[in-house]
Amino acid sequence: MSITISQKVRKLRPSASIAAKQKVDELRAQGVEILDFCLGEPDFDTPAHIIEAAHQSMLSGDTHYTGSQGTPALRQAIADKLKRDNGINVPASQIVVANGAKQLIFDIFSATLDPGDEVIIPAPYWVSYPDIVSLNGGEPKIVACGPETGFKLTPDMLEGLITSRTRWLIINSPSNPTGAVYTREEWLDLIEVLKKHPQVGIMTDEIYEHIAFEGVKNHSPMAVDPSVADRCVIVNGMSKAYAMTGWRIGYAVCPPELVKAVVKLLGQSTTCACSFSQSAATVALNADQSCVDDMVVLYTKRRAAIVDGLNAVPGIRCKAPDAAFYVFPDVRALLGSKTAAGERIETDLDLVNYLLEEAHVALMDGTSYGLPGFLRLSFAASEKVIAEGMTAISKAVSKLQLADNP
Ligand code: PMP
Repeated sequence: MSITISQKVRKLRPSASIAAKQKVDELRAQGVEILDFCLGEPDFDTPAHIIEAAHQSMLSGDTHYTGSQGTPALRQAIADKLKRDNGINVPASQIVVANGAKQLIFDIFSATLDPGDEVIIPAPYWVSYPDIVSLNGGEPKIVACGPETGFKLTPDMLEGLITSRTRWLIINSPSNPTGAVYTREEWLDLIEVLKKHPQVGIMTDEIYEHIAFEGVKNHSPMAVDPSVADRCVIVNGMSKAYAMTGWRIGYAVCPPELVKAVVKLLGQSTTCACSFSQSAATVALNADQSCVDDMVVLYTKRRAAIVDGLNAVPGIRCKAPDAAFYVFPDVRALLGSKTAAGERIETDLDLVNYLLEEAHVALMDGTSYGLPGFLRLSFAASEKVIAEGMTAISKAVSKLQLADNP
């Protein structure tokens, strides 16, 4: 008997960031030293008090299944956090815990999309959104939001995209890959449009909320205008703020009907998130938050180094991101250039391949995030790697013969 792979999965593209990581690992296995700017996770280890909490919880018997919705203690800690950080009052019954924010985004779309339903996704977007929507029968409606609007969706763009089949607008703020954050006023303007279209839900992926610079604050639409709270969903998690990617704890705030649907899906798929990860996440949220601040201090230094380093390279323009640990420099001026070997760099992906071969620097192409002409570099990398990487990029780019400078 031969096993056939479903149409659905055949159409699925592998995650671009996971594919990039594989390429880096292969080169490293061949002994090539790579300066890696692809990392989509903090390079810090989880703070010791959180690890200790997991250890203690295992010793005290937290080694069994939990309820599918998440433990009452963790859901209460999340409710307290939402009140403290976001000005949102929701009962623990409206919170669902799962194996990462990614699983919740998947399950919420699975619970709400029927074939042909549309989801508006501003580009550049987090690489997984369009595939998660398609996999669940939905139609991703992608709209390019370039540097002119700060990589953000405007009310006019939104109005032009909504149809009777639109079920969701998903916004990742702070954004991976641009670090853009929607202000309160920008949310108010988008909400004004959405009020005319009650069939559209508002999903915000706020996983980078705590990694923000120079006093930039995250705003959840649910807090900005409580009158639309009944169609807002917040997705967040422990991965980025607490350097807990491997612990797989994400959470969502959902209207009660959606909570029930997602819990039903979890009950028939993964049962629950890891019991002792949930205990440790409870401690992480309830404890002193200085470990998060300490990491942000380091990200702030790295952000300055990478932005200055990139802007010093002719042909690259880089805006300092408001939040998250990514920069999304504009490299359109380098497209059309020629390498010393006479090969033409036509696209951002060509440039990524050139920098990998010539400079041994690994980074991501903007095309994978839905906006060609840009690169994405993660600064969840040491200051040493950043300094060496910027020198290597500068040297490799200086060897390119620019199109308007033949
Ligand atoms: N959303 C965004 C925007 C992300 O960048 C990531 C991780 N790269 C996730 C969600 C997934 O987070 P988790 O580890 O909680 O699944």
